[in-house]
Amino acid sequence: MKYVVVTGGVMSGLGKGITAASTGRILKNKGYKVTAIKIDPYINIDAGTMSPFQHGEVYVLKDGGEADIDLGHYERFMDINLTSEHNITTGKIYKTVIEKERRGDYLGKTVQIIPHITNEIKERIRHIAKKSGADICLVEVGGTVGDIESMPFLEAVRQMRAEEAEEDLTLIHVTLVPIDTMDEQKTKPTQHSVKELRELGIQPDIIVARCKKPLARSTKQKIALFTDVREEAVISCHDSDDIYKVPIQLEHEGMPNVLMRHMNLPPLDDSKSWN
Ligand code: ADP
Repeated sequence: MKYVVVTGGVMSGLGKGITAASTGRILKNKGYKVTAIKIDPYINIDAGTMSPFQHGEVYVLKDGGEADIDLGHYERFMDINLTSEHNITTGKIYKTVIEKERRGDYLGKTVQIIPHITNEIKERIRHIAKKSGADICLVEVGGTVGDIESMPFLEAVRQMRAEEAEEDLTLIHVTLVPIDTMDEQKTKPTQHSVKELRELGIQPDIIVARCKKPLARSTKQKIALFTDVREEAVISCHDSDDIYKVPIQLEHEGMPNVLMRHMNLPPLDDSKSWN
């Protein structure tokens, strides 16, 4: 099983969901069976009780599960069906761990975030990935790096990275590249958010930069220099008039080659069209 983990920095609503869904579509076009998991670091069990004014559209899955719209993006982009299991929340993780504790499953141990919560997160991700029968599992960590809520999930990702072979876990970090009043692309927010991720022990393999216009070569070089990510792995994800064009945009940016090389995978079937 291979995992592609998508994290986000700088601010929320950047386009992590669209990036994860587009990456899944790219891998599907290469002939691989893909599935996806969305991690929402809130304490609600699911999005069903959340106001659409605050949270946006609630997406209903085929088993009746109510989830974040990102699961809708995954289903539409990758042409797959997901269930409520594919949406992991802090609420679901804590509920299971507390139930296990009450049953005495931890045999008198002190139940802690590390290792009990992080083990539960890792077990769930691996269980869902295996059950789906996919070759590659996309895992989007909701929220922004640095948020207190996402910490246990990022720690679980750090541990998984150490436990899996290097080519079996690829980390994509989505950041923002704003422009200043002189129309110059600014890399500082990206530098800071990668620094924050590295402080947690996680080095990204690919940086997807959300920006108004395509990243200039010099911007990519600067990001590469400050983040230890190869220049070709700094991918521009500029504003698109149609989100369904984003996978094609990422393909033009060289995302498939960077991904396949990092994952040490051959393309099984390159002939699939974007239809
Ligand atoms: P996140 O998962 O980071 O919260 P989403 O993937 O839900 O963000 O995207 C937030 C909003 O940005 C959505 O309305 C989405 O349609 C839009 N969006 C994402 N990527 C792009 C893009 N490349 N061009 C234009 N709009 C985008």
